[in-house]
Amino acid sequence: MKNRWNDTEEKTFEGPLGECTYASRLLGSERSLVLHGGGNSSIKRRGKNVFGDDIDVLWVKASGWDLAQMEPDGFAPLDLDRIRRLADLEELSDLAMANELRAAKLDASAPDPSVEAIIHAVITDRAVLHTHPDALLAISSTTDGRDRIEEIYGDRVVIVPYARSGFRVGRATAVELVRNLSADTVGIVLMNHGLFTFGDTAHEAYDRMIGLVTEAERYLAGSAASEEARGSVGAIPNVDRSDLARLRLEISKAAGKPFIAHRHIDEVSLAFSRRDDLESIASRGPITPDHVIWTKTVPMFGRDIAGYADRYRAYYERNKDRASATRMLDPAPRVILDDQFGMVTAGPDVGAADAAGDIYLQTIGVIEQAERLDGYTALPPEDFFDLEYWELEQAKLDRVAETGEFTGEVAVVTGAASGIGRACARELLDRGAAVIGLDISPTVGDTFDDTAFLGIPCDLTSAEATSDALDAGVGRFGGVDMLVAAAGLFPESAPIADHDPVAWRRAMAVNVDAFVQLLSFLHPLLVLAPRKGRVAVIGSKNVTAPGPGASAYSASKTAANQIARVAALEWAKDGIRVNSVHPDAVFDTALWTDELLAERADRYGLTIDEYKRRNLLSIEITSADVARVVAELLGDRFSRVTGAHVPIDGGNDRVI
Ligand code: ZN
Repeated sequence: MKNRWNDTEEKTFEGPLGECTYASRLLGSERSLVLHGGGNSSIKRRGKNVFGDDIDVLWVKASGWDLAQMEPDGFAPLDLDRIRRLADLEELSDLAMANELRAAKLDASAPDPSVEAIIHAVITDRAVLHTHPDALLAISSTTDGRDRIEEIYGDRVVIVPYARSGFRVGRATAVELVRNLSADTVGIVLMNHGLFTFGDTAHEAYDRMIGLVTEAERYLAGSAASEEARGSVGAIPNVDRSDLARLRLEISKAAGKPFIAHRHIDEVSLAFSRRDDLESIASRGPITPDHVIWTKTVPMFGRDIAGYADRYRAYYERNKDRASATRMLDPAPRVILDDQFGMVTAGPDVGAADAAGDIYLQTIGVIEQAERLDGYTALPPEDFFDLEYWELEQAKLDRVAETGEFTGEVAVVTGAASGIGRACARELLDRGAAVIGLDISPTVGDTFDDTAFLGIPCDLTSAEATSDALDAGVGRFGGVDMLVAAAGLFPESAPIADHDPVAWRRAMAVNVDAFVQLLSFLHPLLVLAPRKGRVAVIGSKNVTAPGPGASAYSASKTAANQIARVAALEWAKDGIRVNSVHPDAVFDTALWTDELLAERADRYGLTIDEYKRRNLLSIEITSADVARVVAELLGDRFSRVTGAHVPIDGGNDRVI
């Protein structure tokens, strides 16, 4: 591992915490050190309390801050002596410990300190750094891992047997330091967890961190564990998107709520998923219990997710006396490995499903190295259970569970790059849904900077393009729960006497043919939606109140409307609801330029403002207004409504 310390760069980090901030960022930028944002740092300084007394202050990284993005604000100042004394206690619950850490803050407005603060306190050196290096995890995940670590480092590290994060590992570290600290000690190895290094300065601690990790990497490179060339995995198996949606439904049933499922088809995941020994290797447990909650892993046992949930419940029943928290977590797996699917990662929202993917991808690398070294060995299942049912870990899950109305669900929105389609996508994202946005516009991918949005340029009149786009969308999020059909074509006005067959056919192709085709593609997915599928169709005032010159638009929109009504009839037995909205005079869309608005207003002898409010309620109607009604129709409040037609036009006497 390269030592990236640069004195010039370091000088740009000013203030008393600058050096530690810089060291934190350097470590945070090494992916193989900080699996999923792990690791922390601290520095001890003299300070004064409110009485003017000199005291020792431990500035320790706050929990929730990522090392790679550290700022001085991300450190919490703690009363060092008070924290150090905690390690003398025989027993302390982790909730009580977390309370003590908060109570020891010297600034009440500072963020809450890392749960590993006790370890930072019991190390007497001024600067302390902590990471979770892949290389060290691989070496410790073998039967004689401890011997190997002793062989590599000798007296330079103190080894602490695995103990759960929080108070237990803090106390265990203090005990081992008293017993084994020598003049040569520059670090502490926490078995199956990570590495601490320390020194007078953050620079010294950093150099030692890189040095020790490099030795572990060299040890692996010089052994049988060095990377073998991974054979090509060949073609990516073509999985039917309905099969993936069915898998997601099973996961969601086990979770008791809709889950996002992300299929990973990179070479690493695919090759791992096809190992002959997959069932053995992937069921031994994660590389560190700290990951257990994110990576409950199932090698696909005949794709029997329901069976997995039952086994999980039984496992919980057998072990629940050990749990420090008593609530059973949902038995849904988070990582599913299968030779055809590859790796599928799941979670209550896109962020959680992606986090499981990130962690497990790195896990694969560590497992493979340990396996080549001496056979991958995880801690006994009790330790995993212990951590999974740890009160602080459950509190973490509760934070993840803060959800929106549609969290865990997936919507397809057509015409998502602009106008009403874009507003609907925005509204659904805001309410927690993941959105697959389809649009003829090549820029649809950039519509929202949000991992829950996947924009795919797609000509919906092409069956092949539409099918490919749905494959990509379902691969990303696992299924489809909702459709908002907003894509439409508004041909130029022309009287019937001037009928243009090309323009007519084009309107029909987009507004009717593509729409019915999309519905037919989506039905097999909507029937697999955990909370039943829903469709919202963006119609038009013209369905009931056509205007002269708009024969192609009015006729095509009316045909689509009739299709929506038939779908409501046909799909009711599947629990799928189909409702339509009929907007009129929505002027904040690409259709309406300032010039066009001025021209129309002028034609009626009105100001633009008056023209926009030309309806019974005399109010303006925006895309966002339409989107809110659409979201309500898709939501639970309308769970007993299908086949409805809701005008959104401020009231129109021709429609009423
Ligand atoms: Zn750690």
